Amino acid sequence: MIIEVIKADITETKADAIVNAANSSLLGGGGVDGAIHRKGGKEILKACVAIRNKQGTCKTGNAVITTAGNLPAKYVIHTVGPVWNGESEKNNALLADCYRNSLTLAIENGVKVIAFPNISTGIYHFPKDKAADIAITTVNNFAEKEKIEKVIFVCFDDENYELYQEKLN
Ligand code: ADP
Repeated sequence: MIIEVIKADITETKADAIVNAANSSLLGGGGVDGAIHRKGGKEILKACVAIRNKQGTCKTGNAVITTAGNLPAKYVIHTVGPVWNGESEKNNALLADCYRNSLTLAIENGVKVIAFPNISTGIYHFPKDKAADIAITTVNNFAEKEKIEKVIFVCFDDENYELYQEKLN
């Protein structure tokens, strides 16, 4: 498995799947979630509503997969990160679950190249440095990582880009 770091907008990233830092409603929100729904078009929301009707809301740490609509990716994997409320082993574990469950869902759907934003570090206020550590460690320790060809950490801002580059060098 190759790990790549890029500074980009994830809605423009060519990958088999891009990961959305969604909220449990699955109905869209701000940040990367808003951008994905806005640029991906109505098909994504339609698929999210169908999932909600079937299984209810998405719990923190879980992930679901939909079409990517008009985006260059094939799929969007929507995962719900924890909201930062101070240092907590439980929240660290839930953030790691987001990466593991997204990768598992990716493999089940034949995804070879997957792109992640730094989940929970926007509106959910997780410290970027800590979240990046969890992201990198979880991806590196993922049991079935040989089934994924490439993981792309997509950094929207300079701070994230520098953090990921530092940690992966
Ligand atoms: P959360 O609610 O999980 O905190 P946010 O979308 O608010 O989700 O932020 C998560 C991370 O995604 C932040 O680091 C933010 O800078 C980043 N981000 C926001 N928009 C994009 C985008 N279009 N592409 C990639 N990353 C993005």
